[in-house]
Formats: sequence, structure tokens, C-alpha cells
Amino acid sequence: MQAGCFNIVLTDANLLYGIVQTMAEKILIVEDELALQETLAYNLKKEGYTVETVGDGRAALESARKLKPDLIVLDIMLPEMDGFEVARILRKEMTTAILMLTARDDEIDRVVGLEVGADDYLTKPFSMRELVARVKAQLRRARLLREEIGKTVEPAPHEALTFDNLTIDLTRREVILNEKPVQLKPKEYELLLFLAEHRRQMLSREFILERVWGWDYIGDSRTVDVHVRWLRQKIEVNSSEPKRIVTVRGGGYRFEG
Ligand code: CA
Repeated sequence: MQAGCFNIVLTDANLLYGIVQTMAEKILIVEDELALQETLAYNLKKEGYTVETVGDGRAALESARKLKPDLIVLDIMLPEMDGFEVARILRKEMTTAILMLTARDDEIDRVVGLEVGADDYLTKPFSMRELVARVKAQLRRARLLREEIGKTVEPAPHEALTFDNLTIDLTRREVILNEKPVQLKPKEYELLLFLAEHRRQMLSREFILERVWGWDYIGDSRTVDVHVRWLRQKIEVNSSEPKRIVTVRGGGYRFEG
């Protein structure tokens, strides 16, 4: 049953991933030199990407907020607002990958530094083949990141402790013996879980009482004996010869598994 649940989750993730994969990834090109802007757009569209182009910094901000692109190819020297400023603002608003285009070597330190934190950069002049390779690498990285994030929001797989034919399902707070649910009272369940989590350790009645019932519980350690007896009737093959919850002479109890 457990394995089944987990498989369903994985299948959903695969389906979802399939849908994401079939949608063209979106690239925003921010470049004020028209000839270069057109060449970039042409080459990236040819690769199957959805491409939008703008020619100044302010338009870049507006467009990025609307389009939510997977990647931004961002020139540095731009009218209205330079690429450094655009990157700095967008970094606070979205996790989109940024590939910067620099014209001067002395800009590189700022591009890769903390101030801008571009994911990658290319120094002009560059070949279209180089650009396409860098774009693909960045988008692949972004895809992997999305998959990782997707994994963390999936429901956690069932948590369970299994001892041979006995399973304690922590997610459902259910105990299964020989594939059938065992009807346990809440305290019986808590006691069994506590014993199982301390498998093969000798636990005194006082310690069990304190941890399962609470230190302020008004009662004595015979409460533990009574619950152990009830538990044994439910999970032992022969409750007068217990194999799972054994009595430790002069001490307390030990869960064998
Ligand atoms: Ca420029």
C-alpha cells in the first residue's frame, strides 16, 4: 500500500513535468542595438523558444514582470536604466536566470559580483552558437531547480515503522497486523509507538509513564502494565507468551520488534 501511494505521487510529478516540458520556455531579450536584438531573437526563436524583445531598461522591468520569462538576456549599456540596475531590481522580485551582455572587460567584476549576481555573461562580440549554448545551459539549470522545488512541495511519503507483519503507520496513526488494521485506543497506540521507537531498549515503567502519559499524570506505573496487557492481546500471537513486548525482570518492558 505504501509503495502504491508513493508511485502515484511520482506519476503526478512526471505528468506535471511533461506539461512544463511541452510549453516553450520564454526568453526576454533586452538590447538597444536593433541589429543585435534582431539577430538574438531570430536565433533563439529558431531553437523553439518564445522570445520577446525590448530596447531599454524601464521596458525591461515592465516586460519581465508581465512575461515572467525563464531567462533574460540583458545588455548593460541601455537607455533609461542600465542593465546593472535592471538586474538588481529583478533579482529582488523573481528568480529568473539572467545572462548579461557586456561590452567591456571592466564590467565583468560587477556582473558576477554580489551587486548584480548574474547567472552568466557573454562579452561582446560573441558568436550566436556560443550564445545559444549558454542559454540552453541556463535553462537546463533552471529546469532542474524547478524540479527540486517541485519535489519539496509534494506530500511527504508515508512514514511507517515495520516489524515483520506489524506496521505502525505514523502518517495515519494506524497499526496494521497481517495486513489488517488493529483497533487501538489512543494511549495504546502512543505506548506501542514509544516502545517501537526505542526498540530493544529496556524501558522502566516509570520512564514509560512519564514519556507516554506525561510527568503530571496522576496514577501509578500499574497503568503501564494494564496497557501493555491490552496491547499484547492485540498484537501478540499468544499474549501469555509475548514475543514482541517482553517483560524485563525487575525493570520494565522491551520491544523486540
Ligand atoms: Ca547597449
